[in-house]
Amino acid sequence: MNKRLVALACLLLAACGSKGPDVHLERHDALSRAEFNRWALRQDLSMFWVADANHDGQLQPAELSALLFFPDDGPWVQEGAFSPRFEQAYATLVAASKAAAAGGSTADERQQLVGQDLDQGRSSLVATDLATLTPGEQQFVDHMLKVAKVTDDLFARENGSAALAARLPADDPASRSLFRRNWGPECVAPRTEKNPACSAIPGAPRRLVDVYPADLQEDAGFCAQLDKRADARTLLTPFSVVREQGGQLVAQSFAKAYAEPMQAIATELEAAAAALDPASERALIAYLKAAAGGFRSNDWLKADEAWSRMTVANSRWYVRVAPDETYWEPCSRKAAFHLTLALVDKGSLEWQAKLAPHQNDMEKRLAAVAGAPYRARKVSFHLPDFIQIVVNAGFDRMPLGGVAGESLPNWGPVANEGRGRTMAVTNLSRDPDSLAARRSQLASLFDAATLAGYSDDGQGELLDTILHEATHNLGPAHEYKVQGRADGEVFGGPVASMMEELKAEAGALYFLEPLRQLKLISDDEALHGYTHVVAWSLGHISQGMYAGTGQRKTYGNVAAIIVGFLMDQGALTWEPAGAAANGSDHGVLVLHPDKVVAAGDALMKQVAGIKARGDSAGAQALLSRYVDSGEVVPHAVISERMLREPKASFVYAIRR
Ligand SMILES: [Zn+2]
Repeated sequence: MNKRLVALACLLLAACGSKGPDVHLERHDALSRAEFNRWALRQDLSMFWVADANHDGQLQPAELSALLFFPDDGPWVQEGAFSPRFEQAYATLVAASKAAAAGGSTADERQQLVGQDLDQGRSSLVATDLATLTPGEQQFVDHMLKVAKVTDDLFARENGSAALAARLPADDPASRSLFRRNWGPECVAPRTEKNPACSAIPGAPRRLVDVYPADLQEDAGFCAQLDKRADARTLLTPFSVVREQGGQLVAQSFAKAYAEPMQAIATELEAAAAALDPASERALIAYLKAAAGGFRSNDWLKADEAWSRMTVANSRWYVRVAPDETYWEPCSRKAAFHLTLALVDKGSLEWQAKLAPHQNDMEKRLAAVAGAPYRARKVSFHLPDFIQIVVNAGFDRMPLGGVAGESLPNWGPVANEGRGRTMAVTNLSRDPDSLAARRSQLASLFDAATLAGYSDDGQGELLDTILHEATHNLGPAHEYKVQGRADGEVFGGPVASMMEELKAEAGALYFLEPLRQLKLISDDEALHGYTHVVAWSLGHISQGMYAGTGQRKTYGNVAAIIVGFLMDQGALTWEPAGAAANGSDHGVLVLHPDKVVAAGDALMKQVAGIKARGDSAGAQALLSRYVDSGEVVPHAVISERMLREPKASFVYAIRR
C-alpha cells in the first residue's frame, strides 16, 4: 500500500487517530530530482536534493541538503522530518513547474530569459562533512564562514552589484536567484549572455564597478585614458580604488575605501586563528594573523610571506583570503577579494614521492625525443598542491564553472622569486550529477568499447593532472632559449603559451607507458589515462577555438591538436556509421589502445622538437591543420553533442 493510501485510510476509518496529524506521510514525488533542483534554483531556495538514495522517486528528509550562500530561509528539516516551511516551499515548486508545463506561466520576456540563463547551469554540489574535525577546527570553520559572508559583501561592493541590489523586484525569486548567482543583473550563459534584454532588473541597468568613479565609466575608452596619464602607475595599483576628490582623480587604498568590512574580516580571521591548535597548525595560524594584518593595513606582502610558508605537509588546510585576480573588471587592474577555504588532499604528496626518483629519467626521455639543440638538464619536480574545496567566496564563487587551478600571489617578492603556491582542485564536479552528465556526453561521442575505457573514479583525471604538471618541469620550458631567443620571441606570446600547454598535455599521454612499465600504474589505469586525455580534449573542443574577442583559446587549441594528431596516427578514428554507446547517436570516435603508445610518442617528438628547434612554422602547421582547417577534427559534431548538457554551477553545503 502506498503512503497516500495509508493516509487516506486513516482519515476514512479514523483508525490511526493516536498518531496525530501525519505530515510524514506527505508524498514528495511530484518532481523528479533534476526538476526539483532546477525549480529550487529558480525560486532562490537554499535546498538541494542530493540523491534519491533509496531509489523510490520520493524526496526524503535525509536526502535534502541545505545550501550556503542562498537566502537563509530554512530550516527545511526539523528532528528528522520536513518542516511546515518546507511543505510550503515544496508546494511553490510544484505549482511553478506545473504552470510552466501547462504554458500558464505569467513570466514576461525578461523573466523568461532569466529562466533560460539559470537553466544553462546545473547545480553541482560541493559538500564537506566536518564530523572528522576537532572542535577547534569546527570553530575555525565557523569563523571562516563569517569571513566568507563579509568577503561576498565586499566583492559585491567592488564589482558594483551591491549598488543595484535595491532595484531587484521583491516578488521575483528567479531574478533574485540570477542576481545572486551571477554577481549582478547580467546574464552569463552562452545562449543568453549577448541578449541585452536578459537582466535580473527591469530596464536592464548597466552595472558600474565601484573601483573607478561612475562618471569616468561613461566613456567606453576610460581604461586607455587612465593608462595614458602621468600618474597612471599610482592610480592603477591593484589594491586601491580610484576616487574623484575636488576635481582630481586620486588612488584610495582598499583599507580606507572599504574600512568597515575589511576590519570585520580581520577580526574574524584573528578569531579563526585563536581557535586552532598551535601544535599542529602553526603555519596556518601565522598566515591568518598576517592576513588579518593585511586587511587592516592594506599591506599584503607580509601576508604573502606567511602564505608561502604554508605547505601540504604543515597544514591540513589550504586557505587564501586576499585581493588577488584582476580579470573581472573592465581595465583588469584592480584585485578582487576572494576566499578559498579548502582541505589539503594528500594525493599530491604521494605522487611527488612516487615520481621524484624517476624525474631525471623522465627528463632524459623527453630530451631524447625533443632532439638537438635541446639537452637534458637536471630537474626537480614541483607538483601543485592538491586541494578539496570547502567553500569559495567573493570572486572565487563563479556563476558557472570554477577555478580548477591557480598560482598565487600575482605581485611582490613571493611571486617574483618563484616562492608562490600552485594548487589544483580535486573535488569539483565529482558529484553523481556531474559524473552522469560527463558520462552521457561521452556516450554520445564514443562507441561502447571506447567508453568502457573511461573511468569516473577520478584516477584517470588525477593521472592527467599529475603528468601535465610534471611535464611543465621537463624539456624546453619558458626559460629555454634557442639561439638566444625565449619561446615568447620565437612563437609570439599566445602561441608560446599554447605550445607549453601542449607539451604538458602531450606528457599526460607520453609518460603513461613508462609509468606502466615501472609498475607505478596498472594496465587498466594506463587505459583510463589515455581515455581521459581524449575526454578532457572533447570538453575543451566543444567550447570553441577562439574567444569572442578573437583571442586564441589556449586549451581549446591544445585539445584540437591532440585529438587531430591521434586521428592522423590512427589511434583515434571517426567511424561515420558507428553506433554511439548511448544507442541513439550515429557517427562515433573510436580509441585504438594498440596504437595509442606509438601515437603519444610521435606527438611528443613533434611538439618537443618544435619547441627545441624554435620551429615557428611547425607550430603554425599544427594550428592550421587541427584548429583552423576542419579537415581532421569534427569540431561541429563534438560541440553539438557535448553542449547538450548544461554547465556545472557549484553550490556548497557543510555537514557536521
Ligand atoms: Zn599547464
